[in-house]
Amino acid sequence: MTSTELVDKLFAAGDLEDREFLQLLEDDDPALLDYLGEAAGSQARAVFSAQIFIRGLIEISNICLRDCYYCGIRKSNRKASRYRLTKEEILGAAEYGYRAGFRTFVLQGGEDPYWTDERLCPLISEMRASFPEAAVTLSLGERSPESYRRLKAAGAERYLLRHETADPGHFARLHPPAQTLAHRLKCLDELRALGWQSGCGFMVGSPGQSARTLLQDLRYIQAFRPHMVGIGPFIPHPQTPLGRYPPGSLKDTLKLLALIRLIDPYLLLPATTALATIDPAGRQKGILAGANVVMPNLSPPGVRAKYDLYEHKKSDGAEAAEHLDKLAEELAEIAYSINFGRGDSPLYEKEKKLYV
Ligand code: SF4
Repeated sequence: MTSTELVDKLFAAGDLEDREFLQLLEDDDPALLDYLGEAAGSQARAVFSAQIFIRGLIEISNICLRDCYYCGIRKSNRKASRYRLTKEEILGAAEYGYRAGFRTFVLQGGEDPYWTDERLCPLISEMRASFPEAAVTLSLGERSPESYRRLKAAGAERYLLRHETADPGHFARLHPPAQTLAHRLKCLDELRALGWQSGCGFMVGSPGQSARTLLQDLRYIQAFRPHMVGIGPFIPHPQTPLGRYPPGSLKDTLKLLALIRLIDPYLLLPATTALATIDPAGRQKGILAGANVVMPNLSPPGVRAKYDLYEHKKSDGAEAAEHLDKLAEELAEIAYSINFGRGDSPLYEKEKKLYV
C-alpha cells in the first residue's frame, strides 16, 4: 500500500500492522505529513470541535532528586538556580488563573522530597475547596502506590507521568541505572488502577530513538489506553550529558501527534511548550495535526525562567497565562477557539459510567 492509503486505513480502523506503522514512520515525504495532519486534525475536530482546552501550569519546584540525562533541572546540574514555591504562592497563582478562566491547574515539579503527601494533600484539598469547579492535575514523578492513593483522596484527579520511551534499552540511554522503565510503567499501571485520569508521553527525536522504538511507543499507548499523551520534541540542554545531541524536529513531532490522534480520537493531546519553542507557529501546527490542549504558564513570572528543562524554553507571549488574549488570537487565526471547561477525558467519562 502507498503511505497515503495507510493513512486512510489508520483513519478508518485506528490501527495498522507493525510494518505499516514503520512505513509511515520512515516516510519523509512532506506531502504525506500534510495528508496525515489533515486526517488527524479532522479526527480531533469530529470529537472536540475546533476547540482547545487550556490548563494552567504551576511549576511548584525545580528541585529534583533524579538525574535524567536530558533534563536541565537534574540534580547534578550545579548551575541550575533552584526554587520552591510556597503554598501561598501556589494558591495565589491558582486564584489568578481561576479569575482568568482556567478550570484545570497542573502542579508540576521535579521529584522534590519537600513535597511529601503531608504537605501536598492539604494543598490539594484547599485548591479543590477554593475552586470547586476546577480539576487538579499532578505531574510530580514516580511516587509510591500509597502516595498516589492519598493524593487522589485529597481531590487530585489527573496525573501526568511521561514514560519517555517504551523500549528498555532506549530508556537506559536516557536515564541513570537507578531509574528503570519497568518501575516507570509500574507507576503508570498503579495510577490507572487507582482511577486517575492518567497521562503518559515521550520526547520526539531523543538520542537513540528510532522508528522501531517509536513503534513500541505507539503500541504502548494502544495497550495502556491513557487519557492524555504529552509529546514534544527533544531539546538539548547544554548542562546535561545529552546536551550536544541535535534537537528533535518539528515535522517528526507533528507526524507523531497525528499518528497518536488517529490511534485514539478521544485522547487529550497537548500542543506542548517545547513545540512552541522550536517553531513560532509550532502550537498552531500541532493543533492542526490533532492536538487539543494548551498549557499556558501560571507560575509566578519571577521563577518561570528557572524551570529550565531545556534550552530557551518559552514562557512568554501566548505561553503565559496572563496573555490568554494572545492565545485566543493565535487560535482564531486557524479558526479554533478556547474551551474554558474542565476538559475531562471522554474516555474517562465513559469509564465512569461503566463503574456507576
Ligand atoms: S525529567 Fe523530571 S525526574 Fe528527571 S531530572 Fe528532570 S525533573 Fe527530575
